[in-house]
Amino acid sequence: MNSTHILGKITYKEIGQDPVTGLLVKGEFREVIHQVLQKDPDAFDLLYFDISQFKVFNHRNGIKAGDELLRIIGQVIKTSTGNSFVYRENGDHFFAIVERERSEDIAHVVHEEFIQNRRYNISIRCGIYSFTRTDINSDASILLDKARIAGNYDAGNLYQYIHRYDPRMESELILSNYILSHIDQAVEENWIKVYYQPIIDSWNHKIVYFEALSRWDDPEFGFLSPISFIRALEQGRLLYKLDMYVLEQVCRDINKHELADEMPRVSINLSRHDLQVENLHETINDILAKYKIPHSCIRIEITESALIDNEVIIQNHIRRFHQDGYSVWLDDFGSGYSSLNTLSKYDFDLIKIDMEFLREGNEKTKVIIEDIVDMAKKLGMHVLTEGVETREQLDFLASIGCSFIQGYYYTKPLDLPSMKEFMDKNKIALEDNDEHAVFKSIRSLNILDVTNSGRPNASEGITEKNSISVALYENGKFTLLYAVKELEPWFRNILGANNLQEAENVFNDPDHEFHRRAVECVSKAAHLDEVAECHLVLPGYSGILRMKCIADNGKTRAYLNLLRIGEGDKLYNPNARKEIFLASERKKPEEKKPEFSFTEFADALPTPVLIYRASEAETILYANDACIREFGCTSFEDFMEHVGRSFHTLVYPDDIDVVEEEIWKQVGDRTNPKRDYVYYRITTKDGTIKYVQDAGRFVRTKEAGDLFYVTLYPQEKIDHTLNGYQNKQ
Ligand code: C2E
Ligand code: MG
Ligand code: MG
Repeated sequence: MNSTHILGKITYKEIGQDPVTGLLVKGEFREVIHQVLQKDPDAFDLLYFDISQFKVFNHRNGIKAGDELLRIIGQVIKTSTGNSFVYRENGDHFFAIVERERSEDIAHVVHEEFIQNRRYNISIRCGIYSFTRTDINSDASILLDKARIAGNYDAGNLYQYIHRYDPRMESELILSNYILSHIDQAVEENWIKVYYQPIIDSWNHKIVYFEALSRWDDPEFGFLSPISFIRALEQGRLLYKLDMYVLEQVCRDINKHELADEMPRVSINLSRHDLQVENLHETINDILAKYKIPHSCIRIEITESALIDNEVIIQNHIRRFHQDGYSVWLDDFGSGYSSLNTLSKYDFDLIKIDMEFLREGNEKTKVIIEDIVDMAKKLGMHVLTEGVETREQLDFLASIGCSFIQGYYYTKPLDLPSMKEFMDKNKIALEDNDEHAVFKSIRSLNILDVTNSGRPNASEGITEKNSISVALYENGKFTLLYAVKELEPWFRNILGANNLQEAENVFNDPDHEFHRRAVECVSKAAHLDEVAECHLVLPGYSGILRMKCIADNGKTRAYLNLLRIGEGDKLYNPNARKEIFLASERKKPEEKKPEFSFTEFADALPTPVLIYRASEAETILYANDACIREFGCTSFEDFMEHVGRSFHTLVYPDDIDVVEEEIWKQVGDRTNPKRDYVYYRITTKDGTIKYVQDAGRFVRTKEAGDLFYVTLYPQEKIDHTLNGYQNKQ
């Protein structure tokens, strides 16, 4: 016999009728349960329906309308089940017996009916209990309780309105009742412990913040993690007590310098109901005042699920926190309650990307994380990703400029002694306030799109995103924090560096041209927002290095660097040649067009003139028109190509040693250089070898660095003896 037939055969003695709904009364329903269990318990489920907000409805619309609503709900349930075994208990609670295979569908139908029908503005939750053979002799009240427990279960997901009974729900209920009745004792007797989890900068690997997370060390139930007690306290609206206790404990730890010698920065979690508590802000401020903790030490985490409450109220809370000097973070972003629009509605300082994204760990979630980072930075917010457990995850997040990392890859939340041990053992330090000042600016950079960062002016002067790097400069030493992936081949092929560390070594190698050019840039762009650029010539590369000072704490400066690679080189464009004399782009008041232009004058000279850098690379920076013609070339670029771009390669190869030696003798003492006269051969573009006398002068300039200025006098033939003769003068 199928289950519908079984239901058709059920008979019960009529006792009465529910006066409001006309449904069965308790005795009748108990009898139905009894008969169903006798016939086939495995074929039926017991459904429990509970109306949320029924009291509000009654209050607003009056008892009569409330009764009418109950009657309608009873009818909807009856129609959906297709039988009349429906019972109402205590106002707004209904039970029904249904065939097992249809139970979830029926629950959905009833729920949907009232969601669609906006007239009533109520929602219906449902618990499902599946009878078993062991229930045959059970008291019906126990079975009703089981369906009710399932219906009242709060899985922490507001959108889950149907729950199937699970025996764990009962033990949770017992624990949750225990938690609610013992919170005061737990606070008084220090059962609540504060654990700390470090929040680490993905580039400098220092601890920037700690998140305070609570644990309940219970004499009866043992050590409880937040899943067990946070939800109970939240449902009982008592989480506020715990949160204020945690804050107080954090302040005590900071005050006693338990976490660090310096004042650490700690984030605390507030729940949705905390935001409904009166005088929340005063209470928080008073706790900080009691322990003399500056407000800048504390960050407030508001979980995304709190945002389902009134938008304006939350906005006002955030505003008030800001007024009081606290940063406000959005916790668990993307966990399901909010839309992207959330980011535009609320003024958060940082968003924590929910750990579910990493747990998914596929290419699609990577794209999503990257987009969230990009978007958050454009909106001027910092970004943190939670739940980082592997090196690959860390590397990925560092590569997209997700500045903050929190997760088991570093450590689980720890109590104070273990945290100290963790820091000592792994040599992970707290970012001090000086570093914090510099890194705050670095972290606001949007390296996914440097032209669009939260920080105003951050990328002015640095417009290409495919060849950027970020470095620190302190006491003459560079620390390379980041280089965009596209630079890897350049590092490998031109610098011989296979990773960031090796590239940093080149940055710091005093014998390397790259180091010298970088030092030149930082000396020119020595203040915040200044940009300097220089011409960089390395074997196999010729281009521009441009560095922008993006942070400066008086001790350490941070630079956003651009290496212009591949494309047309501005410095070799004769029309742009004068830019070398303008290496710094500091903002100056608008200058009048100069009456005199060096390049115009030099190009008009009948004598060949050449300027090159007084560095090992001897890069040629300028050749006047007479010089270009002397070499049989048509343009500056043509000339550069022909002579090999440096003075060293311009000289006929057999003469270079003697030329270098003679120059060195003359100008070796750079504090007192003399003019030098050197004879050597050059080769013109058509292959003709010519003799020239070179009259050179070492010139030290403020903006363009150390240079050689040379005039070339064509000779009939070379006379090496003159080298020696002239040099003795
Ligand atoms: P949350 O604020 O998002 O905190 C992060 C949670 O993720 C912590 O769990 C932490 O231990 C865990 N976690 C961190 N890194 C990893 C990882 O790499 N992998 C995995 N699987 N988990 C990681 P915890 O301490 O159990 O806290 C759970 C939640 O309970 C917190 O989530 C927070 O919403 C709440 N909570 C904890 N303590 C408090 C409190 O004192 N007050 C309030 N209102 N809520 C709290
Ligand atoms: Mg949190
Ligand atoms: Mg979180």
